[in-house]
Amino acid sequence: MSTKRDYYEILGISKDASASEIKKAYRKLAMKHHPDKNKEPDAEEKFKEISEAYAVLSDEGKRAQYDRFGHAGIDNQYSEEDIFRSADFGGFEDILEHIFGGGFGGFGGGFGGFGGSGRTQRGPRRGSDLRYDMDITLKQAAFGDKVNIDVPRAQNCETCGGTGAKPGTEPINCSNCGGSGQVTHARRTPLGNFVTATTCDKCHGKGQTIESPCETCNGSGKVRKTKTIEVNIPKGVETGLRLKMSGEGEAGSPGAPPGDLYIVLHVKPHERFERMGDDIVCEIPISFAQAGLGDSVQVPTLYGDVKMNIKPGTQTHSVLRLKGKGMPHLHGHGQGDQLVKVIVKTPTKLSEEQKKLLKEFDSLGGGSAGSGKGGVFDKFKNAFESVISPEDSPGDSPA
Ligand SMILES: [Zn+2]
Ligand SMILES: [Zn+2]
Repeated sequence: MSTKRDYYEILGISKDASASEIKKAYRKLAMKHHPDKNKEPDAEEKFKEISEAYAVLSDEGKRAQYDRFGHAGIDNQYSEEDIFRSADFGGFEDILEHIFGGGFGGFGGGFGGFGGSGRTQRGPRRGSDLRYDMDITLKQAAFGDKVNIDVPRAQNCETCGGTGAKPGTEPINCSNCGGSGQVTHARRTPLGNFVTATTCDKCHGKGQTIESPCETCNGSGKVRKTKTIEVNIPKGVETGLRLKMSGEGEAGSPGAPPGDLYIVLHVKPHERFERMGDDIVCEIPISFAQAGLGDSVQVPTLYGDVKMNIKPGTQTHSVLRLKGKGMPHLHGHGQGDQLVKVIVKTPTKLSEEQKKLLKEFDSLGGGSAGSGKGGVFDKFKNAFESVISPEDSPGDSPA
C-alpha cells in the first residue's frame, strides 16, 4: 500500500545496523543532501527522506514497529489491520486472523483497549478500538451462531453532541496554541534550523478549550453506555480468530469516526471431541468380545450419532474414519472427517462363568480370534456383552 522506499535502503545500511552505524550513515547523507549546501532540485526531497528514515530507525520502538510491519507500522497505529485477511460473512464486515498464534492463555469474557495510545495526532481523533474475548463451544464453532453481547463503551454525549460544552456555549480556540493543538519550537543546529512540534499542554492537542462544561458529561463529551451487539459467528472458526466489527468501538471526537470492536474467539475444549484442524478426533471404548467378533456401534458426532462397523479382529487403538463428520471449512464448502480411535477394554472383574469361558477360549488357541464361529464364540460374546454405548452424545451436551 505504500510506495515509499525502504528506510534501510535510503540510509544505505543493513537491516542489522547498530545505532552508531545508523547515526553515521545519516550524518553523512544529511551533510550531502542538506538543501543549504546542495542546490540540486531534488535535494530537499532527499533530505526529508533521509531525516524521516533516521527519525524512525534511531528510535528503538519505532524501528521495531517498522521491522515488523514496514511503513504501515509507522504511518498508521492500526496498521495490523493491513496484514489481515479480509472476509465477508453475510452482512457485517469481518476481518479474521490468527494473531495470537495459539499461545493465548486465559479464557473468560473481558474487555481491553486495543492500541490507540501514545499517538499524537492533529485534528479530530478516531475512537479507540475495543477487544472482547468470547468463549464459544465446539458446536458454535462448527455450525456458527448469533450471539448477543453487551459492550460498555464511550459514546458521544447527547446533551452536548460530543463537544463537552454546555448547550448554548461552544468550545473556544485554545489561547496557547491558537487552535492548532501543537506548539512549535525552533532549534538552531550546525545543519540548519529545525522546527519541532509538541502537543499543546493547555488543550492537550485538541486545539480547543471549554469555558462552561456540559453537565451531563462534565466536559468530556463522552458518556459510557452499554450497547447490545449481535455477533455473527461464522462456521468453522477456531481459537485465536478475531472478528472485526467496524465502527462498534469507542466514539471518536466530534467529526471523527469511532473505533472498531474486535471479537477474539476462544473455543472451549469439548469433553468428548478433540479438534485437529478440520478433523474431529474421538475415542470409542469397545469390549473384548466386540473387538474379536466385530460389531456395529453408535458413535457420537457433531451431527448426531451414527452407526459404525467394527470389523472382527479389530485391534485396540485402530483409527476409523467417518468421512465428512468433521468441522466445516472456514472459507468454503466441505468439511473435515471424524477420526474414531477404538479402545479395546480388557475386563477387570470377571464372573466365574466368564473365567470359565476365557479358559475354554484359551485352551482352543485363544489368540486367533477369527479362527472359529459359533459354539464357544457365541457363548463368549453373550458372556462379555457389554456394548459400550456413548453415555453422552454431543446433541445434549451442555458444553
Ligand atoms: Zn456533554
Ligand atoms: Zn492548545
